[in-house]
This record gives sequence, structure tokens and C-alpha cells, in this order.
Amino acid sequence: MKRQKIRALIYARICKRLKVKQAPCVVCGKPVPKKKATLEHIKPVSAGGGWDPGNLAISHQPCNVWRGVRPLSQVRVENGLPPHWGKKGGKDGIEGAGL
Ligand SMILES: [Zn+2]
Repeated sequence: MKRQKIRALIYARICKRLKVKQAPCVVCGKPVPKKKATLEHIKPVSAGGGWDPGNLAISHQPCNVWRGVRPLSQVRVENGLPPHWGKKGGKDGIEGAGL
């Protein structure tokens, strides 16, 4: 599946799950317009994270760059958000967005 298609799928799933029209950025918590959404790996690919929906979330492009490969829980706390997105779980304490 193409990256673009995966992103659209994850975006739609988050909106459905949260009952919102715009998916929130997993890094800063603010809504991301669909056309500006980037795919965020909760556990970075460079750290062994995969492309399964449980490891994918939505972020703003600048947030995605700003986060880099730092743990998501850490950057969320820096942004004044709770460390966990969605349910607790997973290796860095965050369960994926998608589902
Ligand atoms: Zn953001």
C-alpha cells in the first residue's frame, strides 16, 4: 500500500475513533488539516518501528521534523500534553493511533 493511502486510512480511523473532523497531531495535540497531515511513526522506523496501524499516527509536518526520533512520550510532555496518546501500552507507553 502506498504511503499516501496509508496516511488517508489512519487519518480517517483517528477521526472516526475520536469523533472529530480533523485528526489531532500526536505531537502537539492541535488539529491537523487533512491536506497537511503527515504520517508519524510512534516508534521510529530507525528504532525498529513498523508500518502496522498500531504504530502509526498523524502529525503536522513541522511537528514531525521537530520530534525527529525522540520518544513520543517525551515530546508530548515538552508540549504540555499527557505522555500517552490513546490507551496505555506498547513499548514506549503509547498505543497507536490508528486503532
Ligand atoms: Zn503538531
